[in-house]
Amino acid sequence: MQRIEKYTYTFSKDNEPVATAKPGEILLFKTLDCFCEQIENESQLVAEIDLSHANPATGPVFVEGAEPGDVLVVDICNIDVADKGISCTFSDTGPLYESIEPRTREIPIEDGYAKFNDITWPINPMIGVIGTAPAEDDIACGYTGSHGGNMDSNKIAAGTRVYLPVRVPGALLQMGDLHATMGDGELSGTGVEISGEVTVKISLIKDFELNWPVTELKDRWYVNATGANYEESLILASKELARLMTPVYGWDASDILIYFSVQGFVEVNQGVKPIHDDMVNLRVGIPKTYGKTPLIK
Ligand code: CA
Ligand code: ZN
Repeated sequence: MQRIEKYTYTFSKDNEPVATAKPGEILLFKTLDCFCEQIENESQLVAEIDLSHANPATGPVFVEGAEPGDVLVVDICNIDVADKGISCTFSDTGPLYESIEPRTREIPIEDGYAKFNDITWPINPMIGVIGTAPAEDDIACGYTGSHGGNMDSNKIAAGTRVYLPVRVPGALLQMGDLHATMGDGELSGTGVEISGEVTVKISLIKDFELNWPVTELKDRWYVNATGANYEESLILASKELARLMTPVYGWDASDILIYFSVQGFVEVNQGVKPIHDDMVNLRVGIPKTYGKTPLIK
């Protein structure tokens, strides 16, 4: 199994591939936490670290045969995380920003549980940053867009299949920013930020139009989209999901909207200033139904 260890801070068509892989191959990505491991204990605040070294993504991997117009499929096989994570508050971030002080907390991980003050909860390791290179301008790994990037969906965990648009030859897959757990919206601006290792299997779907990253769970499909605000993101994700459903379900837009209204999911991935400069990344989903799947093939 190839081990991918080098990292970068941007998604870029000009990034030099650090490895080449074939569809069907299993790869191991070794990832650093979003602070590049600069925060070692609770006495260090985020404001004191070098933020030009934040949100590293491991890669990119050049996928043989991937061409613009294809879809890169990434099956998340396993995520192992370190035995300690970091969570923080920042002075200008999150719904309680007026009443908090900047703080760093270490969150130990023991036997699959995260410990915080006097409580524990089971970890659910997830990938915050995952995507392919955009066709045009570079996008810093801390940002998100139709290429993926810092989507911060807590559904991108082991067992999930991620579909990413291919915009440049080789797709240039990269990922990082693991969280041992993260709540919806990531309201302080951090999950349990942690280093670790991700094992994935990559495959390719040739010539299939995909405009935004899709996540397939055991029982659900989601489209992830980013806009300037909730309304714009909701429209972008809903339109893409409706477009993918149309040939599979054979329904028109009115029936699809009724179905969204009675069975759909709308959940916030991440939307906290200043991480996305007022952008909202959310996911709109539907349950999987026998005979009406897959949406992408
Ligand atoms: Ca993140
Ligand atoms: Zn993170």
